[in-house]
Amino acid sequence: IFPPAVSDVFRFDDLLSAEERGIRNRTRAFMEKEIAPVIADFWERAEFPHHLIPRLATLGLGGATLTGYGCPGQSMLGAAMGVTEVARVDGSISTFFLVHNSLAVLTIGLLGSEEQKRELLPHMAQLQLIGAWGLTEPSNGSDASALTTTARKVDGGWVLNGRKRWIGNATFADVICIWARNTDTKQVNCFIVRKGAKGLRTEKIQNKISLRCVQNADIYLDNCFVADSARLPGVNSFKDTNKVLAISRIMVAWQPVGLAMGVYDMCARYVRERRQFGAPLGAFQLVQERLSRMLGDVQAMFLMAWRLSVLHEQGKMTHEAASMAKAWTTLRGREVVALGRELLGGNGIVADFLVAKAFCDMEAYYTYEGTYDVNVLVAGRGITSSAAFRAPP
Ligand code: FAD
Repeated sequence: IFPPAVSDVFRFDDLLSAEERGIRNRTRAFMEKEIAPVIADFWERAEFPHHLIPRLATLGLGGATLTGYGCPGQSMLGAAMGVTEVARVDGSISTFFLVHNSLAVLTIGLLGSEEQKRELLPHMAQLQLIGAWGLTEPSNGSDASALTTTARKVDGGWVLNGRKRWIGNATFADVICIWARNTDTKQVNCFIVRKGAKGLRTEKIQNKISLRCVQNADIYLDNCFVADSARLPGVNSFKDTNKVLAISRIMVAWQPVGLAMGVYDMCARYVRERRQFGAPLGAFQLVQERLSRMLGDVQAMFLMAWRLSVLHEQGKMTHEAASMAKAWTTLRGREVVALGRELLGGNGIVADFLVAKAFCDMEAYYTYEGTYDVNVLVAGRGITSSAAFRAPP
């Protein structure tokens, strides 16, 4: 079903350690063999392949960069190779991992109590407990800092009230990190809400045309009580979201790289096999121009995401760099999937060929974890020292 990878013309393979290559190879083999043959069907039905979670757990990607508590302590590039190779075959499964690892697990690992980490992380690392992460609200998307979900202190715990929107994995997650405003301090705090909690209701968002296997949900919190022990002690203001988002944004910058690599690999095979006017498509100049542009994009995207990851490991990454990279890889990624979609002609709009699926999935990458606009505004603020997020009065 899936062709061999042919997209490493600049030998970026040499930039990875043996361990990182190991994660890459293991994940690639698994995805090609076990996910590629079945995933288009799940995508069309907008269902998550729950039965595959135990098999996905064997990949050892759960917990990603965290060390201890049963987590594998991967390097940033190692974790990136996991996210990228999963995305190369399927954007939805990559996002399932991203939400679980780079949002939920990371939030608990960086900002949770010792007790919370001990109780949850070993099971989350094995995918026995699945995580979700609720920041966005129906009326507060790009301007997430204006969130209005409330947390009211009562005897022995907190009462949560409000709505969340777009929350990935939330329909079936065991552990949801909910960001809410403390009614006393007016600051943002974060709470672990467990599946089945009284006052918690999730409703799947229907009819998405992107990442159809990801179960995004509207969350309703109606007097939802959580114990004192559910509050993450490391979160004292909205600024603390950035401790998580700064790292997850690196992984989101890698996702389009994987999706684009997969599309390029599909197209490279297709133009050899498909013949028109007595020759393989790859013999025509216009086709070669498209392939060359696609591969140039893929390789440049890889290099920017690679450099971002290395800068993070060296403690030199800035928010501007992370935002610029996320904006840029999704922008170029959009071009790659559009060109790939064209190269397949009519088959480019059929989900079974996986290119059409990637074409649709790239749209969600372009939008979540800060839209393209919001990320270039962060970069623009760095360039000009002038913030342009708010409309002039
Ligand atoms: P809006 O903020 O309403 O933006 C609409 C348009 O206006 C966009 O083009 C935007 O770029 C533009 N815009 C907004 N502000 C400005 C400005 N200042 N200047 C110029 N243009 C501007 N959230 C979670 O908390 N958890 C999740 O797990 C999660 N998963 C997601 C999965 C998917 C598939 C999607 C689509 C979203 C997910 N999100 C999640 C939410 C996501 O982060 C938001 O959709 C995103 O931040 C944009 O918010 P919005 O959709 O409300 O768009």
